[in-house]
Order: sequence, then structure tokens, then C-alpha cells
Amino acid sequence: MAERAHIGVTGLAVMGRNLARNFARHGHTVAVHNRTSAKTRALVDEFGHEGTFLPADTAEEFVTLLEPPRRLVIMVKAGAPTDAVIDEFAALLEPGDMIVDGGNAHFADTRRREAALRERGIHFVGTGISGGEEGALLGPSIMPGGSPESYAALGPILEDIAAKVDGVPCCTHIGPDGAGHFVKMVHNGIEYADMQLIAEAYDLLGRAAGLRPAEIAEVFKGWNSGRLESYLIEITAEVLAHTDADTGRPFVDVVQDRAEQKGTGRWTVQTALDLGVPVSGIAEAVFARSLSGHTDIRAAGRGLPGPTPGTLDGEAAARFADDVEQALYASKIVAYAQGIHQIEAGSTEYDWAIDPGKVAEIWRGGCIIRARFLNRIREAYDSPRRPDSLLSAEYFRDALAGAQDAWRRVVATSAELGIPAPGFAAALAYYDGLRSPRLPAALIQAQRDFFGAHTYRRVDRDGSFHTEWSGDR
Ligand code: NAP
Repeated sequence: MAERAHIGVTGLAVMGRNLARNFARHGHTVAVHNRTSAKTRALVDEFGHEGTFLPADTAEEFVTLLEPPRRLVIMVKAGAPTDAVIDEFAALLEPGDMIVDGGNAHFADTRRREAALRERGIHFVGTGISGGEEGALLGPSIMPGGSPESYAALGPILEDIAAKVDGVPCCTHIGPDGAGHFVKMVHNGIEYADMQLIAEAYDLLGRAAGLRPAEIAEVFKGWNSGRLESYLIEITAEVLAHTDADTGRPFVDVVQDRAEQKGTGRWTVQTALDLGVPVSGIAEAVFARSLSGHTDIRAAGRGLPGPTPGTLDGEAAARFADDVEQALYASKIVAYAQGIHQIEAGSTEYDWAIDPGKVAEIWRGGCIIRARFLNRIREAYDSPRRPDSLLSAEYFRDALAGAQDAWRRVVATSAELGIPAPGFAAALAYYDGLRSPRLPAALIQAQRDFFGAHTYRRVDRDGSFHTEWSGDR
């Protein structure tokens, strides 16, 4: 009998091609297919020496190349193309077979697709894959959802190709149906927040402390050997040290200041609003990108009055850089706390039983937000006294206590100098919101009862109350 493949990949653009090569490099026989066959041939011609690839020109041929139960990975454009490809293959599969969608699908689409395929006995495994094209080839962080049975069959292969940290694969079964894509979505939301905070730190070091990009690169390099050590801090130092070949200017100075987005940050915030979870740091990051893109209102706003940032002298600049490190660390902790809150809320809403400690563990390698401090998050959720909020876990409470004076100085300085720092400010407001023994929400409830008879609860009695306000008018 002809050789069969352990796994198949259809959709051989950058992600699918690199994932297929990763499987092959780990000794798995991989069936490969792409709507446009030229890409399939190109993969085999260029990389055939890396392992065993079985190319297929048609969907029917592709399915016959897979050993049952079939494991079929789809890496095509998210949205309608993914639905089209699922429909095409589902018609050719048998009960017990598995379709893995490794694209960036919305978790609600994954839930819909999983339910439809479950009726036909096919396992649908919505899988978050982070790390971009390099991660796909060298070891991504993998977040599979779907049934426990499908993970039993797929887990070993996925764990094989995932990044490893301290020998632990960055892949775990996240939970049923859409859980994997939900966690990947929140991962991306945290990534938005992390990038925004780093950008604010860069802006403050430049415009308040007067440092040039190459000097800021050195500051970031220093930070990367401490508690802020992470992929994003590391690449930021490299970007800031880079010189534009055409002009000889710092590279960052020749890039237009309009940030784009593909949509996963927006999904995170939309979903958080639906779940009622305050992810203010992530939301500010999405809005900051959005503001940067509104060149029309930015042009109109340029003449608005405000302070002109001056720069600090040498010693004050060094002290300020240290303050910014503390503000960045504290705000980053808040962003992760908010993301984890959202994961816990989603898990409760959809009955996913997600373990946040395990999620932190598989984000330690392969993905864009990989960072040293994820070990601390895992420890916090592994402890017998599981925290209600990450901020109340001992390590993080102490870290925030140590950072907060500097954090407040940075937010105050940014306001005084007129340098926007929405990420730092929102994170601090969230922290103070949690700390406050009493919030002005009491007044909001009273207002709501006044104009809409929405009722309120009292501090001294149980029950729901309404006051007849008309006599007061
Ligand atoms: P992509 O540009 O999103 O999609 C291109 C692939 O989709 C090609 O193989 C294309 O086939 C196929 N395709 C498009 N419409 C199709 C249809 N109607 N029927 C069949 N095939 C169709 O590719 P990508 O950047 O490699 O990403 C793949 C998936 O991974 C996406 O969902 C993306 O969001 C996700 N993802 C990407 C990254 C990244 O860094 N790029 C990271 C994580 C996740 P043809 O060659 O025939 O056009």
C-alpha cells in the first residue's frame, strides 16, 4: 500500500508552508495541498529535502493521502475562504476525522463550525497559532480547542512542533470548541497593549527625557536583561538602533506614524464589552492605533493649545528613564491581569474550564508576547491560593507596591508635558479603581434611579429600592 501521511496541510501561503516544513522536519510525513497547485509544487521542489512531503493536486487526492483518522490542517485566509475550504473537505471526510483550523478565526465562527461538524461526527479543532511565519517554522505557541478525543490524537504531533521552554512544549489543550481561538484572540489583545505601552515609553524617553532613538535603544537593551525581558522589548531595541539606509536617519523617524490593525485587538475589546470585562488597557491600545490613523482630525487638532514638552537635564533624564521602566512593568502587569480576567470570564460563559496558569505557560515561548514574567503568572495560578485577580497574587502585589510611586510620577509628568500616555494612565486608573474602598458608581446608580427608575441597592439593607424623586424637582 502507498505511503500515507500522519498529517496534511492545505493552504500553503507563508504560514501553511512553514507549518508543513516544521511537521516534516520533525519526522512526520506531511500531505500538502493548495488551491493553486503551483504553490504545492514549489514547496516540494524547494524544501523536499527537509522531510517527506506527499503533494496532492486535488482535495480528493489530498484526503486519500492521509492515514485515518485523518488529521487535516487548514491554513487559508480567515472568514469566507475558511468556510469554503471546510465545506469542501468535510464532504470528503469520515466520522472520527479531524479538521484543524490554524487561521485567525473569530471564536464565535469556530463554535458555529465545531457544532456543525460535530453533527457529522467530524472533530473540528479551532487552533490559535502565534509566532508569525518564523514561529510556524521554528516552533510556535499553539492553542488548540476542540474535543479531548481530538487532542489525544493531535496533541503529540502539535507538541512536537511547538516551541519548548525548559523542555515544556508551548502547546496545551485549551478547552472545548472555540476556547483555543478565544485565548489566541486575547493573546493578540495583550500584544496590542504591550506594544502600545512600549511605544509610550519610547515617546516619553524621547520627548520628555530628550533621548535620541539610538540612546533609547540602549535603555531598552538594559531593560531586556531585567524583569522586562521579552521578545517585544528585544525587537524594540533593535528597531530603535536601526538606521535608514537611504537617509542615514534613525529608521523609526522615517516611518509614518499611523498604526494599522487586522482586527483581533478590536475583537478582544468587542468581546470584553459583551462579557462586561474591563479591559481598559487593551481598549486604549486599540483606540490609540485608531487615533493615529485619523490624519484629518489630527491635522485639525494640531493647533490646539497645550504645553510644549521641554527636556530634562542629564541626571533627571536618567531618573525619569528608571521611572518609565517601573511604569511600563506595572502597566504591563495590569494588561495581563485584564486579559486573564477576560479569559476567565469567557471560560465561565462558555463552560471551557480554561486554566490561566497553563495559558501563561504556553505563552512563554514561540509567540509574540513571550516574556520572562509569564513564569510568575503561571506560579500565581499554580499556587493553592488561586488569586481572584492577578494583581492580588503576592508577587504582583509587591511589584506594584514597589513601582507605583514612579508609575504615578510618569503619568503626572506625561499630563503636565502634554505627551499622551493613554496606556499608562488607563492601567493606573484601573489599579486605583480596584484599590478604592468606594467608587462613584454610587452616584451613577442614584442618577439612574432619578431619571429612569432603575432602582439601587443600599449599603445598610438587602433588596432593591426606588426613590420617588418627583417631589424633589
Ligand atoms: P493568507 O494570505 O491569509 O491566505 C492565503 C492562503 O489562503 C493561500 O494558500 C490561498 O490559496 C488560500 N485561499 C484563499 N482563499 C481561498 C479559497 N477561497 N479557497 C481555497 N484557498 C484559499 O495566508 P497566511 O498569511 O499564511 O495565513 C494563513 C492563516 O493563518 C490566516 O487565517 C491568518 O490570519 C493566520 N495567521 C497568520 C499569521 C501571519 O503571521 N501571517 C500568523 C498567525 C495566523 P491560493 O494560493 O490558491 O491563493
